[in-house]
Amino acid sequence: MTIKLLLFTATFLFTACSAPSQTTPAMTTNTSNPYYSRTDTTPITIANSEWKKVLTEDVYTIAREQGTERAFTGKYWDFEGLGTYYCAACGNQLFCSDSKFGSGCGWPSFFEAVRKTAVRYIDDNTHGMVRTEVRCGRCDGHLGHVFDDGPPPTGQRFCMNSVVLEFEPDSK
Ligand SMILES: [Zn+2]
Repeated sequence: MTIKLLLFTATFLFTACSAPSQTTPAMTTNTSNPYYSRTDTTPITIANSEWKKVLTEDVYTIAREQGTERAFTGKYWDFEGLGTYYCAACGNQLFCSDSKFGSGCGWPSFFEAVRKTAVRYIDDNTHGMVRTEVRCGRCDGHLGHVFDDGPPPTGQRFCMNSVVLEFEPDSK
């Protein structure tokens, strides 16, 4: 898998965020996850019992049990690196650092997903609130929520959990 990705990257020159741009070996934490791919965007349906075997406890709790990391504790809430964010559960490309902004809410915030089908939306009326849940468009894992108080051009604020994001820096 790693060699294949490296060859793939070496063959083509990608612009930032337009396609998978991997310059370092695939995340070693995912070598035991057969559902992980940064190139396959086909939706997958995997039982939670299977996910439990291949995801870390942190990722499983948020992605599969709609958990939320505590504010200001995640690794990306105040992170400003230039690159791409992928789903930590399945490798799906989700957000570009170009759309990240400092919302001050304690979670990494973006004003748009990298492409329309990167994420999907679910009405969430739990906890006495009316919110829109954001899930990964490939593995259907919970990522966070989206609100209408974001900056231009979209006015949206994708409030995500760092635990279910994986950052890959731009290659130059
Ligand atoms: Zn995913």
